[in-house]
Amino acid sequence: MLLEVRDLYVEFRTRDGVAKAVNGVSYSVDAGETLAVLGESGSGKSVTAQAVMGILDTPPGRVSGGEVLFRGRDLLALKEDARRTVRGAEMAMIFQDALSALNPVLTVGDQLGEMFVVHRGMSKKAARARAVELMDRVRIPAAAERVGQYPHQFSGGMRQRIMIAMAMALEPALIIADEPTTALDVTVQAQVMELLAELRRELGMGLILITHDLGVVADVADRIAVMYAGRIVETAPVHDIYKAPAHPYTRGLLDSIPRLDHKGRELYAIKGLPPNLTAIPPGCPFHPRCPRARDVCRTDLPPLYRVSQDRRSACHFWEETVDASSA
Ligand code: SF4
Ligand code: MG
Repeated sequence: MLLEVRDLYVEFRTRDGVAKAVNGVSYSVDAGETLAVLGESGSGKSVTAQAVMGILDTPPGRVSGGEVLFRGRDLLALKEDARRTVRGAEMAMIFQDALSALNPVLTVGDQLGEMFVVHRGMSKKAARARAVELMDRVRIPAAAERVGQYPHQFSGGMRQRIMIAMAMALEPALIIADEPTTALDVTVQAQVMELLAELRRELGMGLILITHDLGVVADVADRIAVMYAGRIVETAPVHDIYKAPAHPYTRGLLDSIPRLDHKGRELYAIKGLPPNLTAIPPGCPFHPRCPRARDVCRTDLPPLYRVSQDRRSACHFWEETVDASSA
């Protein structure tokens, strides 16, 4: 297994008390596999990724339990300089906002080239040539001419391609992309997502795709892990999730995707808001918003029930949820 997150806990100190951002998350990604991590903002999906990458804001954040095994080695036990070597060379991250992730006063050629100078000991000239190659590879037109331009001179979609080029420069085994297309318009979103999927295939990387939008991952993900209030509430192969979700929260997310065949119909929205992480509701954290909630849900935290060999749901009533979905 390339990456295995085991029973991870992360908390943040806030003015209102301790925010329990990640509460016992386990997931894994193999080489060549794409895992989509889905959830609303504040569900803990980005914080989990930051803990995996070792870029958590500490303090106020802190990993309070669990393991992050990368090729069998626990990254949480490594010293920061060893961690930094893993980051970039073995795993890399792509962020939503390329403009603030890129350095505004360096040309894209210098930023891309720096990866090869620092990590591969290349000359500046050779590194520049590699930068052009990379830009070509992520299909930035006229790469040789544009290599001397600054980030602000590129469109949002092109900047996101530059981010992807930076992330894959050293051919890492794992890429984590956090809402990589959220800031882009729909057509460009699809192109960038396709590019990511293609590179993942070619390079045989593991890919973790973090998103709040179930619509964008359908064609690219192998498996989905749905997060709510810092926990995984459902995990399954992507097709099973679309066919018949086994958790009412997943059902809600699915029903809130705009669909062409539902034109004119009002879009469903899950009622209420995600919980305050300093005061997560007792029992099933989703119960205040759940259309199926009943007494036991208010008192008993559902474990991750085994739905089938490769499927889990943290709902006491997953069976009726599946039945209702397939009806
Ligand atoms: Fe809804 Fe209860 Fe299932 Fe939670 S355990 S998702 S409240 S039915
Ligand atoms: Mg986020």
